[in-house]
Amino acid sequence: MYYIGIDVGGTNLVAGLVEESGHIINKVSTPVVKDMTARQFGAELVRLSQRLCEVGGIGFDRIEAVGIGLPGVVDNKAGLFVQNPNMPFRDKNVPLRAMFHEEWDVPVFLGNDANCAAVGEYWAGAAKGCDPAVMVTLGTGIGGGMVCGGKLFTGFANSGMEIGHMIIQPNGILCGCGGRGCWERYGSATALIQLTQLEMERDRESKLWELVEGDPSKVQGRTPFQAARLGDAAAKRVLRNYLDGLSIGMINLINILQPEIICLGGGVSNAEDDLLLAPLREMVWRGCFDKTNHTRIEKASLGNDAGVVGAALLCNLV
Ligand SMILES: [Zn+2]
Repeated sequence: MYYIGIDVGGTNLVAGLVEESGHIINKVSTPVVKDMTARQFGAELVRLSQRLCEVGGIGFDRIEAVGIGLPGVVDNKAGLFVQNPNMPFRDKNVPLRAMFHEEWDVPVFLGNDANCAAVGEYWAGAAKGCDPAVMVTLGTGIGGGMVCGGKLFTGFANSGMEIGHMIIQPNGILCGCGGRGCWERYGSATALIQLTQLEMERDRESKLWELVEGDPSKVQGRTPFQAARLGDAAAKRVLRNYLDGLSIGMINLINILQPEIICLGGGVSNAEDDLLLAPLREMVWRGCFDKTNHTRIEKASLGNDAGVVGAALLCNLV
């Protein structure tokens, strides 16, 4: 049997035909059209899934399930895309499963994108065989997901593991959620870029300026790592501050959940180990309550495919 996983992003829809092992046989993708309605979006997901079968030469009846990973709040029980800050349409409670079934009667599962990435890494990636397994995605914000007891943990109403909004600083930096001091304001790629820009203002001599050709808006997540590699003191201060914030959230996660592994995904996680993972492990392990049973801290291994693989195999973990 085969599975279909669809990774819905703000700009692209990527669908993959996936084997039970997590191996992707082929992929197709299409851009998200700017003024797409919810109904057009639903129809596009069906069309993409069917095209995948045609390209792969697989009959529709050989598909065990279709999984859809969505950027927003999802209610898999009811088959609804509840809330979507990142799509062209603003409708709430889009009945995606029912829409899909108007065209094709196949089991359809819905998951939040960060949760799907966790499922992918647990099933076929760096967290394979680890339980509980936590995935932390460092991007614009911080996304999270956890597999526990072989099942995806979602909380009672689908907003569990919104780890980016764990408060790590009372009255701290204002967050997009309306709260203050949320972890993602200190540990996301966005936070790293802002820390870098701030430090550049303080240190006009820093090599960071050369790396961005004098334009702070060109700072990327990798910029402070590049400058630190060149021995730049300002960049080293940026990374120290960033790791302080990142490690606090991870210590909290470990003290509450004691996962066997935390996988780090997102662009920032591609930094070289001696600048990111090695110091992070040391800070986190030193700060945890249990100092002998270390939670493994690893780079996620599926990269951009985690969403497709996880969405496809979601049916086995709900
Ligand atoms: Zn927040």
